[in-house]
Amino acid sequence: MSSERLLNFINGSWQASKAGDVLPVINPATTETLAQVPMSPASEVDEAATAAAKAAREWARVPAGDRIQYLFKLKALLEENLDDLARACTNECGKTYVESVGELRRAIENVEVACGIPLMMQGWNNEDIARGIDEHMFRQPVGVAAIIAPFNFPAMIPFWFLPYALATGNSVIVKPSEKCPVTQQKIFRLIEQLKLPAGVMQMVNGGKETVDAILDHPAIRAISMVGSTPAARYIYARAAANGKRAQCQAGAKNPVVIMPDADMDSATRILSDSAFGCAGQRCLALSVGVTVGSAREVFIEHFSEAARKRKVGYGLDEGVETGPVISAASRERVLGLIAKGEQEGAKVIVDGRDRKAPGYEDGSFVFPTLLDGVPPQGEIAHTEIFGPVFSLMHADALEDAIAMVNDRAYGNMACIFTSSGAAARKFRQEAIAGNIGINIGVAAPMAYFPFSGWRESFFGDLHGQGMQAVEFFTETKVVVERWPKEWSRKF
Ligand code: NAD
Repeated sequence: MSSERLLNFINGSWQASKAGDVLPVINPATTETLAQVPMSPASEVDEAATAAAKAAREWARVPAGDRIQYLFKLKALLEENLDDLARACTNECGKTYVESVGELRRAIENVEVACGIPLMMQGWNNEDIARGIDEHMFRQPVGVAAIIAPFNFPAMIPFWFLPYALATGNSVIVKPSEKCPVTQQKIFRLIEQLKLPAGVMQMVNGGKETVDAILDHPAIRAISMVGSTPAARYIYARAAANGKRAQCQAGAKNPVVIMPDADMDSATRILSDSAFGCAGQRCLALSVGVTVGSAREVFIEHFSEAARKRKVGYGLDEGVETGPVISAASRERVLGLIAKGEQEGAKVIVDGRDRKAPGYEDGSFVFPTLLDGVPPQGEIAHTEIFGPVFSLMHADALEDAIAMVNDRAYGNMACIFTSSGAAARKFRQEAIAGNIGINIGVAAPMAYFPFSGWRESFFGDLHGQGMQAVEFFTETKVVVERWPKEWSRKF
């Protein structure tokens, strides 16, 4: 059992938390304990927030062109340490090494995009809005921003916000997931090497008490959170009640329509990766399918074969395509939901419940599972499972399939597989979701596009990444100035 107790990074130095409570961080494949994470108390959040507020005043005055020099260095450090970070990510959250590299690449892409802040942060200037009067709009940083992260992308998700908050002139406090805090601890070892002014970048580990202290602290002005819908709704409400701006990206249950004219080979390959990659623990995992008309038989045949063939195991082993879910408790929950689907009348076509990953018999593995004939109103069709489980329903026509797609609380992503431009266009226009995939299984927006969840998948108005992140981390200041013509006669 590793006794390494993770540290907080506050006011430019590493500090041991005085927290009495610690949680073990466990590799879900091997069950090895990787570290202990402290549940930092409110006093440590206060220390970080006070240092951040002090640092923010100076940092805001550093020219944007100078601020982004730190991001260029950060990009280089992330590239140099990519292998070490990817291994840490796989070990703590279970995904495969290739998936970990993929998430780090997207983190780096966000750093690259934020290097454009001098241009992205530009305001407006209008001369002579009336005789002798000019009007300008500037963007100024909000001050102190906090990022509250989930477990499933421990490297990438803080980077949907962090580079933008930093480059626009804010100081930042990151609260990593208590389930997967090791990768961020390593990233902060790199951030330390940037030699930013003390207090500009900080990290405080912890759980609910730590988050509540962040939400209640008067010096913290902006909250970026990603996690489950109940937590996101709560965090958004509490942040807003305290007068903070908040963007909270939440849970999902992403549907896909499979048309009879889809290329079944590529649809199967892409869909299998979306549903079972990252062990189904992506907020953009496709988890409910609707086959239209004659697509049903052929899709089931192709997809069940792909589900059975998928190689499941420890993410650092060669050729593994699906790792474990995050914990034994999560595995139990997923198994319970599959059983619930059966009780509701679904048929388990591929059963991943009782299979063990060779060499990792105690790991939290669920093998790819396919349920057919899922009742559209049943719990299994609507609850986020967050495991490698795909639920299948059927419709006679595209119109009915779109109605099934839209009959849900979430709106993170919806996809269609078809070779018909007309079907794709109708779907794109009518599907109620913020991210749409057409012959795409994980429609994850590039860093310069907003991560556009809708409905119960998002609380707020400005999303993470790109220009919306720049808007979120800045306030507009409008200046109107009068320079009468007579005054210029003096010169
Ligand atoms: P989670 O809600 O359990 O935790 C997320 C963060 O919120 C953690 O840092 C945690 O400490 C904090 N938190 C949780 N409950 C809290 C409470 N009651 N009070 C205060 N703080 C609290 O989520 P998770 O299990 O780590 O992540 C998985 C979830 O995140 C899934 O629902 C997934 O869909 C969602 N997710 C959404 C997106 C998106 O962009 N929409 C991306 C990734 C993950």
